[in-house]
Amino acid sequence: MVGDGHVEKRSKDKKKKKKQKRGGGKKKMTAEQSLAFNSVTEWVYLDQSHSSSSSEDDFGVHQILNRAVDNNVVFELHSHSNFSDGYLSPSKLVERAHCNGVKVLALTDHDTMSGIPEAIETARRFGIKIIPGVEISTIFSQRGSESEEPVHILAYYSSCGPSKYEELENFLANIRDGRFLRAKDMILKLNKLKLPLKWEHVAKIAGKGVAPGRLHVARAMVEAGHVENLKQAFARYLYDGGPAYSTGSEPLAEVAVQLIHRTGGLAVLAHPWALKNPAAIIRKLKDVGLHGLEVYRSDGKLVGVIFTLQDGSLFSLLPLTVLFGHFQSNAAD
Ligand SMILES: [Zn+2]
Repeated sequence: MVGDGHVEKRSKDKKKKKKQKRGGGKKKMTAEQSLAFNSVTEWVYLDQSHSSSSSEDDFGVHQILNRAVDNNVVFELHSHSNFSDGYLSPSKLVERAHCNGVKVLALTDHDTMSGIPEAIETARRFGIKIIPGVEISTIFSQRGSESEEPVHILAYYSSCGPSKYEELENFLANIRDGRFLRAKDMILKLNKLKLPLKWEHVAKIAGKGVAPGRLHVARAMVEAGHVENLKQAFARYLYDGGPAYSTGSEPLAEVAVQLIHRTGGLAVLAHPWALKNPAAIIRKLKDVGLHGLEVYRSDGKLVGVIFTLQDGSLFSLLPLTVLFGHFQSNAAD
């Protein structure tokens, strides 16, 4: 009888569990996932646990630590500061990330790592980690075909940064130089389309020393009254292959992936959902060592992207266990 009672209680518990699952409760992690989660959490809170044990009276620190550990560890793995086409300085970006609960932030400006030192400096104050990164502008071109497509590759480094910094910096400087020529060419095309725009205007929006991008040109177009908003500037003139679109001196995507490997980084394909030819690009880049794909769009939605398996077949990507958003970046460029 006692046994029966036990069975009944257990089956009730089972029902309860089932209900929780249907209601969108947390999925149980596999042993491998929880091991990974624990080691990431340990890394994220490494410095903080030191400071809280050394000052046990510091109630503030203790409180922050407890609250954060209970929640998900929020990663932001794609962000832009005003060192490329973001609106915020690296310090303000870090501050905003902190206010949004981000614990690990990768700063991935377009073709430059110049904002990283400032981000690291500020991140120390807020107790969050910075992953030094960069979003590299490249071109994918298929042999035997005339079609070319711009591809952005994210590079992530350890806290020590790239191992051959000079080689990477030369590579990026060349792309940045190309960005100046490209912006001037886009302005020329717009002028020919009877949309007068001055180089000085775009350069002022980009900021001193910042290599201009399409977003800076689009902002100048809005300010000059040629279009109503940024979306319209891209949809009508600046989209890939559009009437005012231009390329700079972007390297081949494969070359960038190989360079990221050589300099000790992880190479990740940015916004693959925006590509015209994702399957061919992913296949080719995986062959030269691509480590991963971006899977969340700027609105935070998980996007179904394709993934090549070792045998070359395609598979839909499963959701990741680590939660991350995408809150200060420009999906268009
Ligand atoms: Zn991009």
